[in-house]
Amino acid sequence: MSRLVMKFGGTSVANVERIHNVARHVKREVEAGRQVAVVVSAMAGKTNELVAWCKEASPLYDQREYDAVVASGEQVTAGLLAIALQKIGIPARSWQGWQTPICTNGTHGSARIESIDGAGIIDGFSRGEVAVVAGFQGVHKETGRITTLGRGGSDTSAVALAAAIHADRCDIYTDVDGVYTTDPRVVPKARRMDRVAFEEMLEMASLGAKVLQVRSVEVAMVHKVPTYVRSSFDDPDSPGEGTLICNEEDIVEAQVVTGIAFSRDEAQITLRRVADKPGVAAAVFMPLAEAGINVDMIVQVVSEDGMTDMTFTVGTADYERAFAILEKIKDDIGFSSMAGEKEVAKVSAIGIGMRSHAGVAARAFRALSEKGVNIRAITTSEIKFSVLIDEAYTELAVRTLHTLYGLDAA
Ligand code: ADP
Ligand code: ASP
Ligand code: MG
Repeated sequence: MSRLVMKFGGTSVANVERIHNVARHVKREVEAGRQVAVVVSAMAGKTNELVAWCKEASPLYDQREYDAVVASGEQVTAGLLAIALQKIGIPARSWQGWQTPICTNGTHGSARIESIDGAGIIDGFSRGEVAVVAGFQGVHKETGRITTLGRGGSDTSAVALAAAIHADRCDIYTDVDGVYTTDPRVVPKARRMDRVAFEEMLEMASLGAKVLQVRSVEVAMVHKVPTYVRSSFDDPDSPGEGTLICNEEDIVEAQVVTGIAFSRDEAQITLRRVADKPGVAAAVFMPLAEAGINVDMIVQVVSEDGMTDMTFTVGTADYERAFAILEKIKDDIGFSSMAGEKEVAKVSAIGIGMRSHAGVAARAFRALSEKGVNIRAITTSEIKFSVLIDEAYTELAVRTLHTLYGLDAA
């Protein structure tokens, strides 16, 4: 018997009517003779509301209690979908993270799944029961406390569950009918892809395409879970196939650039007149790392008279903290002044074909300059490059690159 994990995101379960629609998708698969585990997110907007309540209760909230609060959104939808399934004659029960259990490490707020015991769910299959699993949440065995997997984490719950119960595939249902060359809400000319390689999807997700949580793509890649992105808004009786995330070898017509991603969640910090000598970079970046602050792009200009300027980016959420830490160690490091800018965005082009083509990024720099977009910083790696620009130009830059690399739909 084939086995399937279906995941439904927030907009797909935004209200009871949509939950009934989800039940119809599940019914189709059950009637096709499949054993089905469904992973659900919280109703659209619910997690944001819960997060805001925690902050309102105390800006310096206890992360363990934050998890107890925000995990509740998924508990509600799991129960509601089980009720909706039962209503149309499909035996179903809900599973909380701690009941399955989905065991994670103890990093509250962004925990990683360590193991999933699928025995109870598989036992339910033998009785003809659909498992409705609350996404996003798990349990830290050592402390017995509820954990959550970081924003967008239900994708990872689904793929990890598919690996654990040896499902034949994992279908991620969302509000778009697949993975596009860029966010279709920003670029109407974006094209849906039939297939996208794991490596490209990893880069797209980590560079801002929130259609899949980065970690879910890693899990799919490592455990070889055939994963599809599809739309829950398609007719439940004849849905489209969506986009398959697959191995590079399985892509027939490879392009040089396959996608454009962007993130507005960036802030830039510049340290002026830093001594250009061994140990300075460590002195700047170690304290930030110790505070759990991720530094992304780093640019250091050629030094004159032994002094240099150092520019780097951090996530917007870490900006104030990073500034405060650097202010404190200013005299130890010895820089003359510090400047920052929060209204910046990172635009990236991704494609496996970049490995074998020269000058791909150079064309982008020219195209952006022709549109009057100033580039503040650049980073490149094997299959992607990113530019940091003023946030106001984000859409213009994304559209320019999308057209430049021939990605616009006909
Ligand atoms: P869900 O609630 O189902 O998890 P998300 O909002 O997390 O849905 O992700 C789906 C959204 O991702 C889409 O509505 C779309 O705006 C956005 N998105 C960003 N980049 C892409 C892309 N390259 N392809 C498809 N969707 C994308
Ligand atoms: N509800 C969680 C969030 O909004 C998890 C998810 O939707 O994947 O981040
Ligand atoms: Mg999501």
